[in-house]
Amino acid sequence: MNRREWMQSGLGAMAMLATARASGDEPVDESDPAPLLAKMGPMMETIPVAASELAPGLYLVQGPGGNIAVLKGPDGLTVVDSGVPMRAKEVFETVKRAGGQPVERLINTHWHFDHAGGNEEFARAGATIFATSATRERLSTDQYTAVFKLTTKALPSIARPTVTSDDFELHVGAHTLHLIAVPPAHTDGDLIVHFPTLDVIHTGDLFSNGFYPNIDASSRGWIGGMVAAADRILKIAGPKTRIIPGHGPVGTRDDLAAARKMLATVHERVARLLDAGKSLRQAIDARPTADLDPTWAKGLFNGPIFTRIVYEGLAQHRGAGRAG
Ligand SMILES: [Zn+2]
Repeated sequence: MNRREWMQSGLGAMAMLATARASGDEPVDESDPAPLLAKMGPMMETIPVAASELAPGLYLVQGPGGNIAVLKGPDGLTVVDSGVPMRAKEVFETVKRAGGQPVERLINTHWHFDHAGGNEEFARAGATIFATSATRERLSTDQYTAVFKLTTKALPSIARPTVTSDDFELHVGAHTLHLIAVPPAHTDGDLIVHFPTLDVIHTGDLFSNGFYPNIDASSRGWIGGMVAAADRILKIAGPKTRIIPGHGPVGTRDDLAAARKMLATVHERVARLLDAGKSLRQAIDARPTADLDPTWAKGLFNGPIFTRIVYEGLAQHRGAGRAG
């Protein structure tokens, strides 16, 4: 996606709208996440893409999108996630340079544009793409994300995953990768990628290290699922496991446990507000995250936005007929 296409996309248009709105005289609603898109546009264009070695033969590529893992193998590279569409070429070249091999296969942890946005570049170079069937489905159809009022176009067919499963093992040279799907959490297609031979786990957006995560209610995501997913990862993580989060620095089991505790606390508090019949506005005004904000409101989301995200996901989950 070049700059013109970006501006024509829903994201670019939304960013312009958000800028226009922010300069008006209307009172600012700090729980409205839409103005974030105005900040995100320039960030996507300017954040550098850089690679580092995480373990022998395993590299981490970080940039404007989600964290990317690159594993060397006898037949080429196995890559976890493909970054944002507007920097796809640069991400792909950085991945190839870091591993020093052609890319053989790509795994998508979920469908979001900052994790699967570079798929086409990888597919055109011959990579086989793996994901859950829910992720393939969402990448194959236009997606509307209500909280951002954002439409993401379906990927062209060449860029869609061709191998889908909810639990499978890949054997790459001396290494085994265990791909484990979890029930709806960040989305309904999240995949954990465990490298047991290297004691590394890539969590996708089931874990944001050090700040409030996004939870995509429009893709059936909800905070109870996020807590359960954290428990699933904690079960396979050891004291020395290095955990690659979807966003943020590589972390430890303790970092994930801290995030899990925060999520469980917010879940319980927002569930109580819903039980008491509070509206979204009343829940936000009750400031259920006030004591957590100094520690966790360090990423894109402040407390009120995170409260909105949690409330909407939980309300929708309950509406779908499951216990909250
Ligand atoms: Zn995501």
